[in-house]
Amino acid sequence: MLLLHTEKLKQIKMAGTRTFTMIKPEAVENGSTGAILDKMIKGGFRIISLKKTQLSPELAGKFYEVHKERPFYGELVDYMSSGPIVAAFLEKDNAVLDFRTLIGATDPSEAAEGTIRKEFAESKAKNAVHGSDSDENAEIEASFFFTEFERF
Ligand code: GDP
Repeated sequence: MLLLHTEKLKQIKMAGTRTFTMIKPEAVENGSTGAILDKMIKGGFRIISLKKTQLSPELAGKFYEVHKERPFYGELVDYMSSGPIVAAFLEKDNAVLDFRTLIGATDPSEAAEGTIRKEFAESKAKNAVHGSDSDENAEIEASFFFTEFERF
């Protein structure tokens, strides 16, 4: 019982310190990369890994596979592979939740003042940044872009 409790506490302490983000094509294209990264850093996130790259339609399709039944899946894949993105693996306590708070609602018209999407997003589709929705997905998504040797 005691061991069980200790194990659980250890898991809780270890859980939730990393999240994955992408700065999406329209935000990279319009020169917002630096300002967006600055907001992330000022929001308390430390950059573990950082990369500018472009997704192939195949990779974008795999990345967003959970959305494949949704009507906008094709549009999302086309858009996310339409130009360079900046991928980053980030660290902070309570990372996934705090990052979702920092970026704001999916639709920028519903995003709170001061959030990244409120300031930089163009529309619900072109909404400036991606943020993982769980600890598990953060690890999966980061592994699309970064090997163990690219995490510092
Ligand atoms: P998120 O977790 O806030 O990014 O939102 P979702 O998981 O619901 O959607 C994933 C991504 O799909 C969003 O960030 C948008 O880029 C895109 N998306 C969401 N809704 C729509 C839509 O109605 N049309 C299009 N074209 N894209 C959408």
